[in-house]
Amino acid sequence: MVLNALNELYNKCVLIDEPMSKHTSFRIGGPVKILVEPTNVDQLIKTLEICKRFNQTYFIMGNGSNILVEDAGIDALVIKIAESFSRVHIENEIVVAESGVLLSKLSKLVMRESLAGFEFASGIPGTLGGAIFMNAGAYGGEMKDVVKWVEVLTEEGEILKIENGALQFDYRTSVVREKGWIVLRAGLVFEKGDYEIIKEITNELTKKRVSKQPLDLPSAGSTFKRPTGYFAGQLIEDAGLRGLRHGDAQVSEKHSGFIVNLGKATCQEVMDLIEVVQKVVQDTFGIILEREVRIFGKE
Ligand SMILES: Cc1cc2nc3c(=O)[nH]c(=O)nc-3n(C[C@H](O)[C@H](O)[C@H](O)COP(=O)(O)OP(=O)(O)OC[C@H]3O[C@@H](n4cnc5c(N)ncnc54)[C@H](O)[C@@H]3O)c2cc1C
Repeated sequence: MVLNALNELYNKCVLIDEPMSKHTSFRIGGPVKILVEPTNVDQLIKTLEICKRFNQTYFIMGNGSNILVEDAGIDALVIKIAESFSRVHIENEIVVAESGVLLSKLSKLVMRESLAGFEFASGIPGTLGGAIFMNAGAYGGEMKDVVKWVEVLTEEGEILKIENGALQFDYRTSVVREKGWIVLRAGLVFEKGDYEIIKEITNELTKKRVSKQPLDLPSAGSTFKRPTGYFAGQLIEDAGLRGLRHGDAQVSEKHSGFIVNLGKATCQEVMDLIEVVQKVVQDTFGIILEREVRIFGKE
């Protein structure tokens, strides 16, 4: 049985019927059948072998900061690649990091070495793997600007090293997303800079984030992608939707581009609110808002 095999591999550190609300920044999501957190590549490869042997469906997650999980939960295995998979090695201007490291932690380590160019990432609450998958970005910087190569694991269990030019980075996507690969490690390159200046830029960006974003409430960040030539938040506000509430899901009062969880929001409430926002914005301005947040286990 798959559970016995996983219990053996993870020395019984296997979570069963684990509420996904505990693992998402939205604090939303029903139970997942089984959740494991590998601590190294070998354990991850063996986990995939078990899935293959028992025909077990699996999904990969990082820090859960860009996903919505349905209220009914996930009848599958979730492999969480997060802080237990986060060794970092820095040599001169090259940083080699495992995919579970949080960007906030990585940006601090990079800053400590007086390396410039990662300030944009300091406030993005995800892992390196999730950020590469999404080509996460902020304040003019994107992962594609700093990633030199990425080591991935294919579904067939093969490890490939992909150079930046072949990663097909685009707005909130990459080839990793297209192929369904698992990010294991990445090599990032920065330039030597001045520690005080790097710190000042990072502090400035943090201040901007704190003043503009509803960081005191659970969310998954920007709910929608930026439509070409517009800002989703501005369109939503101009359509009169700021503060619109459905159950405990609300278009944030502070930043209309965020949907927040006021306490007990369900996935269904968030999805319904997303639909209303999309419809009103399209009816008002003829612009289609594409969802950025992913429905985990479905797409
Ligand atoms: C308050 C707040 C602010 C935010 N601000 C920003 C911002 O400024 N810019 C921005 O781009 N995003 C932002 N986000 C969204 C989110 O932080 C990013 O998309 C982040 O990169 C997601 O990383 P994660 O580890 O949490 O991924 P998860 O949410 O866990 O997963 C996202 C997707 O990545 C895949 N994935 C995760 N890890 C791996 C891996 N190792 N290998 C392969 N696939 C993987 C998952 O399968 C899933 O499909 C914000 C979110 C919040 C809550």
